[in-house]
Amino acid sequence: MRTLITGGAGFLGSHLCDRLIKEGHAVICMDNLITGNMSNIAHLFGHEKFQFIKHDVTEYIYVEESLDNILHFASPASPIDYLELPIQTLKVGSLGTHKALGLAKEKNARFLLASTSEVYGDPLIHPQPEEYFGNVNPIGPRGVYDEAKRFAEALTMAYHRYHGVETRIVRIFNTYGPRMRIDDGRVVPAFASQVLKGIPLTVFGDGSQTRSFCYVTDLVDGIHRLLFSEETDPVNIGNPHEMSIMEFASKIQEIAGVNLKIETKQLPEDDPKVRQPDITKAKNILGWTPVVSFEEGIGKTMEYFRKKLNI
Ligand code: UDP
Repeated sequence: MRTLITGGAGFLGSHLCDRLIKEGHAVICMDNLITGNMSNIAHLFGHEKFQFIKHDVTEYIYVEESLDNILHFASPASPIDYLELPIQTLKVGSLGTHKALGLAKEKNARFLLASTSEVYGDPLIHPQPEEYFGNVNPIGPRGVYDEAKRFAEALTMAYHRYHGVETRIVRIFNTYGPRMRIDDGRVVPAFASQVLKGIPLTVFGDGSQTRSFCYVTDLVDGIHRLLFSEETDPVNIGNPHEMSIMEFASKIQEIAGVNLKIETKQLPEDDPKVRQPDITKAKNILGWTPVVSFEEGIGKTMEYFRKKLNI
């Protein structure tokens, strides 16, 4: 099997490269490296089945070889990244998805879209099942990501229905683990590095907003199962273990055995108040449930950041 992974040098993309290489796939990793990083895939160079192509997928994608699967993971994905790169974010979700789908059609390959819990926006239904259509502000700062992913889902379904392309859509909820960028602004690298440095934890707003955090290996396993399933409608993959951001600040300190100050910062515009995946569908269709506990996952993630920060 040969699999193309767009955004393959990113956090999730690089873990997918690892998993598929381990299973004997030939992997073509494509990335323009605007938010991805070569250090995430450096260990794969020299592997006979691994190939890296530096390319912006919003431009025509040329791949000489036959392809069995295309995993479309290219996109800025943290709020500060897509605020800094709003046009690129819209382009990769729309034009990039179009190019990747066109390639899937041409190669007769299975296509899997990395979608997001952000399609639910600031949800009015809790937890969020796949049937929920969401509550998204199209013109707010997060709209560039949310609407690009919503468009990407629509385009994926159109290619499936109109062109008969084999498609899969995963709606990814907050995921964390090694290879997240320390400075990507997301809460996990922010709190982990603050704890390691012994400086105050930056809580946005009153910290009552909730998230549900999934460890990366669990997510990769869910995506792998979805790819090889027959399900063409979107499937939520995430860990339903929900906590408020304030609770997260306490837990991470407890795990690390520290007691730091909390520094309150302004809540970003349109920051969702709650988020928790309903994973009934993933359980039933894929037989998937997350298995890594928060303590274990945070421990491994902190170890990674400790090395990166040289602490
Ligand atoms: N957040 C925080 N402090 C930080 C970074 C983020 O309190 O230093 C909050 C943010 O406002 C949001 C939650 O943590 O409510 C998760 O933010 P993140 O950027 O990780 O991802 P999101 O789920 O918002 O896409």
